[in-house]
Amino acid sequence: MTLTTFAELGLAEPILKALAEAKHETPTPIQSQAIPHVLSGKDLIGIAQTGTGKTAAFALPILHHIATDRRRPERRAARVLVLSPTRELSGQILESFRIYGRHVRPTTALAIGGVPLGRQARSLMAGVDVLVATPGRLADLVENNAVRLDQVEMFVLDEADQMLDMGFIHAIRAIVARLPAKRRNLFFSATMPKEIEKLAGQLLTDPVRVAVTPVAKTADKIEQKVIFTDRNGKPGLLADLLSDPAIDRVLVFSRTKHGADRVVKGLSVAGIPAEAIHGNKSQPQRERALAAFRDGRARVLVATDIAARGIDVPGVSHVVNYDLPNVPESYVHRIGRTARAGRDGIAISFCDNDERAFLRDIERLIKIQIPAEDRRTDRRGGEPAEAGDARGPRREGPRRFGNGPRTPRPQGERSGERQDRGGERHPDRRAEPRADQPRAERHARPEGHGRSEHGRAEHPRGERSGGEFAGMRFMKPRGERPAGSEGPRREQGARRPAR
Ligand code: AMP
Repeated sequence: MTLTTFAELGLAEPILKALAEAKHETPTPIQSQAIPHVLSGKDLIGIAQTGTGKTAAFALPILHHIATDRRRPERRAARVLVLSPTRELSGQILESFRIYGRHVRPTTALAIGGVPLGRQARSLMAGVDVLVATPGRLADLVENNAVRLDQVEMFVLDEADQMLDMGFIHAIRAIVARLPAKRRNLFFSATMPKEIEKLAGQLLTDPVRVAVTPVAKTADKIEQKVIFTDRNGKPGLLADLLSDPAIDRVLVFSRTKHGADRVVKGLSVAGIPAEAIHGNKSQPQRERALAAFRDGRARVLVATDIAARGIDVPGVSHVVNYDLPNVPESYVHRIGRTARAGRDGIAISFCDNDERAFLRDIERLIKIQIPAEDRRTDRRGGEPAEAGDARGPRREGPRRFGNGPRTPRPQGERSGERQDRGGERHPDRRAEPRADQPRAERHARPEGHGRSEHGRAEHPRGERSGGEFAGMRFMKPRGERPAGSEGPRREQGARRPAR
């Protein structure tokens, strides 16, 4: 039986009131599937992407628990711990707790990098109902005895796949080692590869599993297209595409931070204003860019995968993959930024010859062949793609996106730029993934070595982080450390509204 109202799900009155005020009339599928189980005290694995309403799927039953089991948190303790991979996402989660909890009035705190440790420690002094944290900063706070985790009643691990991708596994294990054995666990991930299954198996007790988007299935409402192009044809192609005013709010993905900046520059040469967000931008710059995009002042936002992760901007009409991601799951995340809340969306991916294998991996994952058009200019005599190419001959006749005049090509892209790793040039370029390598090889990395937009390699197991929590120094994986990389979106610290 599908429950169709929040009241039927069994949520407490103050939460129903806040939901009505937030104009959430009916539960989303993940909410109607997950909430009854969480209310009944079960551990949960939720397989859902951002945009499905998964934050409320855990926030609502947690608020219900707080509303129905009022007790003052002990000093420096948290009753609920939510771990999320990025500062932005943590801020959004906390905001959701505030919105849905406005009549429950839980005490809350945010523990994320980029904010003085002392201030966060003070905000935790009296203890809080809900603590939302990124793993590196939380580890620091625990190490400094600013927070204790032995009173945690409910533990949420959000975006588990992203956490692992960002190299947080050791910090997570160390944090979990500090949690009491008797606790409830809610585990959310957009994808469930083997290593995530393994982690879930270790953390959860007899969990119920709910899934809303079958893994590797892209949203049905997204119209997908791939455009074969030459690498140096991409800037002109993008400008051409964006000259169509029907493309009213577009998120452009670049694999690299420098690439993102070049895209913005190229567009500005073509007379198209655009903003960029990535790990090299300061927090105020990122906030300004996001705000401009959200309120429609900027039509084009260029982002790297990590910077865009978890950002919820309604009404994105188009996603453009200026570069294809080398991790196929990222494609699903990227295009999931459009077609949200029941709307239609269009995802257009540029694919140069070096990216053919990335496209193959993506199509294998999503189990569809994305309709393609060929806009390469170096095809001899306008021949279609050669049979030996990754995708073989094109399947669709050339069709131009955009109705504007062809714009001059802005600044060319350098061929084969490395995946963005924090602006540091890797001395050994052979270490970079290449599209023509087999996928397993491209993604293989030594245990304990994470990799991300911010670039530094993680420390191998045991180098800085052992299995023990006490006295260990945590590595601070990307997304947390560099100044302004994943900064707070909102005001920091605990809020203790009068009960
Ligand atoms: P999330 O998947 O948690 O990132 O949520 C995506 C968006 O959906 C957020 O902007 C929420 O405010 C919105 N949302 C969540 N649940 C509902 C609901 N039941 N009805 C309408 N909007 C919702």
